[in-house]
This record gives sequence, structure tokens and C-alpha cells, in this order.
Amino acid sequence: MKSHRQELWFNVPSRRGFLNITPEVEASLAESGIREGICLVNAMHITASVFINDDESGLHHDYEVWLEKLAPHEPVGGYRHNVGEDNADAHMKRQIMGREVVVAVTDGRLDLGPWEQIFYGEFDGRRRKRVLVKIIGE
Ligand code: ZN
Repeated sequence: MKSHRQELWFNVPSRRGFLNITPEVEASLAESGIREGICLVNAMHITASVFINDDESGLHHDYEVWLEKLAPHEPVGGYRHNVGEDNADAHMKRQIMGREVVVAVTDGRLDLGPWEQIFYGEFDGRRRKRVLVKIIGE
């Protein structure tokens, strides 16, 4: 069995944002040389997510509105976590959007369903943060 590990670094210039990282994950898979196996992609930070959904700007706007309803950033003082920091909402947004995805690798390609794309979800940006890609197989 082969295994391949890679870290992808991102620096989202705003507090929140969604990045389609499918091309970077595909590049990592190509580099691995693995044809059949499993690809794990996870955020390495507790205020960021990795998730799979549609690359459609209206949906991303809807996520932003929905997440702000569930865990509004303001008032910052409304969260017990926000002592010396202001990112309690980012932890909660990360929880609901998820930490990781697992994608099957078939014939050297990510075996995604129709319209499925892999996203990095940033909820406390303006700094460098990492995503781990781990691919195992043959
Ligand atoms: Zn925090």
C-alpha cells in the first residue's frame, strides 16, 4: 500500500470565505500516483471546515446568511469563549460545516458525484491556515 501526505496552505484575506480546493486535491492525487484507494481532506484548524457541495455563488451566499443566523459573529460579548478573542462563532460555524471529507479514488481520479466539489470554509481568516490531504491505496 502506498500513502501520500500533503499540506495545502491558504490565507483568506477576509474573516470568512469559501475556496474551491478540488484542483489542489486533484494535483495531490496525481502526485501520489495512487490509482485505487481513499483520499481524506481535513482542516487542521478548529475555526475552518472542509466540506463537499456545489460550486454555486447563490448557495455560498445562502450558507453565509444561514451560518450567521445560527451563530452570529456579533455581539462578540455574547459568547463565553470570547475572552481575549472574538472567534466563538467561527468554532460553531466550523462544527456545523464539518472538519473533513473522504473521497473514493477510482482509476486515479476523485470519484465525486455530479456537481460535487471540495471546499475550504474559512470562518476566522486573515492568517495562514492548513488543510491536510492524506491519500492511501495502490
Ligand atoms: Zn477561539
